[in-house]
Formats: sequence, C-alpha cells, structure tokens
Amino acid sequence: MAKLIDGKAISVQIKDECREKVAQMKAEGVEVTLAVIQVGNDPASTVYVGNKKKACEYIGIRSLAYELPEDTTEEKLLELIGELNARKDVNGILVQLPLPKHINEEKVLDAIHPSKDVDGFHPQNVGALCIGKPGFVSCTPAGIIQLLKRSGIEIAGKECVVIGRSNIVGKPMALLLLRENGTVTVTHSRTKDLKEVTRRADILVVAIGKPKMITADYVKEGAVVIDVGIHRNENNKLCGDVDFESVEPHCSAITPVPGGVGPMTIAMLMNNCVESVALQK
Ligand code: NDP
Repeated sequence: MAKLIDGKAISVQIKDECREKVAQMKAEGVEVTLAVIQVGNDPASTVYVGNKKKACEYIGIRSLAYELPEDTTEEKLLELIGELNARKDVNGILVQLPLPKHINEEKVLDAIHPSKDVDGFHPQNVGALCIGKPGFVSCTPAGIIQLLKRSGIEIAGKECVVIGRSNIVGKPMALLLLRENGTVTVTHSRTKDLKEVTRRADILVVAIGKPKMITADYVKEGAVVIDVGIHRNENNKLCGDVDFESVEPHCSAITPVPGGVGPMTIAMLMNNCVESVALQK
C-alpha cells in the first residue's frame, strides 16, 4: 500500500511555523498585512477569499478586504493597486481570480509591485525563479516541494515528470523540481505518447485539469504521484486528475484529493506573506 502524503497535517505545520514567526515579528513591533481584492461575487471566489481571511486570522496576519462591485472598471482597480503598492503598511497584495471579463487579468497582475506579489505571478518573480534569484514562488508548486521534502522524498537525481505547463502550476513546478536537482520533463496536450513519458517518472506531478484521467497504466511501479487536480465528480464528491483507486496500489507515495495538494496552497500563501517582510527590506 502506498504512503498517503498528508497535505492537511503538513499545511498545519507550515501555518504554525508562520504563526510563530509572526508572533516574533509582532514582539519586535512589525506587523504583517495582506490586502485581498475581490471584484464581483463569484461564489467560489468568495469561499477562497473567506479561507484566506481565516488563515490570516489564525496566523496573526492583518488582512484588509476590498470587495469591489462586478462593474468596477479596470482603471479603478489599477488605481487601488497603485495605492496599495505605495502603502508602507501593506506587505502583500492579492487579487482573487478570475476577474470579470471586461478587466484584463494580465495587466492587473503585472501592476502589483513584485515585492508585494505574494501569489508569485508577476513576470519579475517568474524570471527570478527561472534564474535562481530570490522572489515569490507560485503557492501551489511551492507547496508541492514542501510536501515532498517534509515526507522525506528525495528529489535530487530523480526522474520528475510534470503533466501540464500552465503559468501557475506546470511551469513553476518544473523550475522548482529542477532547482532541487531533479531531472525534469514537462508534458502537455501535444506530447506524443504521454504514457511512455509518464511511465519513466520516479516523481509524477499531475496538473491537467481532467478528472481521473491518470490511471495505473501511466504510472511506474513504486512512483511518487502528486495530484494537483480538483474536481467534483458525478456524486458531488471531490476528486483529482488521478484515478486514485487504480493508481494507489502501484505507488510508493501519493497525495489524496481532498487533503493533499489543496491545503498547501493557502499555507504557502501565508508563508509568502511572512517572507514578504524580509524581501521588502
Ligand atoms: P490549465 O488548464 O491551465 O493547464 C492544464 C495543462 O494540462 C495544460 O498545459 C494542457 O496542455 C495540459 N493538458 C490538457 N490535456 C492534456 C492531455 N490530454 N495530455 C497532456 N496534457 C494535457 O490548468 P492548471 O494548471 O491551472 O490546473 C490544473 C489542475 O489543477 C486543475 O484541475 C485545477 O483545478 C487544479 N489546481 C489546483 C490547485 C490547488 O490548490 N490544489 C491550484 C491550481 C490548480 P496545453 O498547454 O498544451 O493546453
């Protein structure tokens, strides 16, 4: 039976470490502040923003909530980001995605000052990751590295295959595995014979966005499988991109959905907020 990688427990460890650091900073008179902007009232976004606020409360980070109406103009949003960029008492700025269609997401994310971009989406932070300089790293892939390390899984020298090349998961994931000295292959929808490539993986990270697509025939015996996908199945239960029942018996370790990668994203966001204070110095 595969070892279950417990993202819930590891995310609590990270949040508790953040909480200690924040308490220490408070004792030295430093407060950490995160500004969270939501435009419109997409129900999923409201849940995500609520969870981020709760995590801030738990850790002791001050959170400022900006709930803007759906018809907010791009100009107004950029103006607010400009104000928050200039405020010395704001360490992190997060714009909840997706934004309404009339707003250019890329323009908005690029407007956040790189030193306050706690989501790690700004081109300057992505570039910094690429050449090994300090900066914020996208939370989900950063969380996966923590899951592997804290579960005692060695990355150096391993064949690592990432399925998916999105800017927020696949690409930064590949760069992080490379930074940890993995031998990295990135696959995508144009990859020929995906199974042949994935069956070489010692560590397989799956971020395709297709429920239960990865079955046992994609996985090498004894591999570590990390499932980034989140979907609701026909019974309204959460499932991932990996067909857990079929794959689990063949792995040495695997993340469940829920309780694997999911909880790590907010924990790493909190970690980025804490680190923002040092980066801004
Ligand atoms: P995207 O849709 O942006 O990217 C999916 C990637 O998978 C693309 O690169 C695409 O290739 C590739 N792909 C699609 N179909 C195939 C195929 N048949 N074979 C090989 N590759 C394929 O998704 P994200 O990266 O944003 O997210 C992936 C999953 O992770 C989603 O389920 C999402 O909900 C989840 N997620 C979970 C998070 C968490 O906190 N746990 C956070 C972020 C995402 P191409 O580039 O060629 O189109």
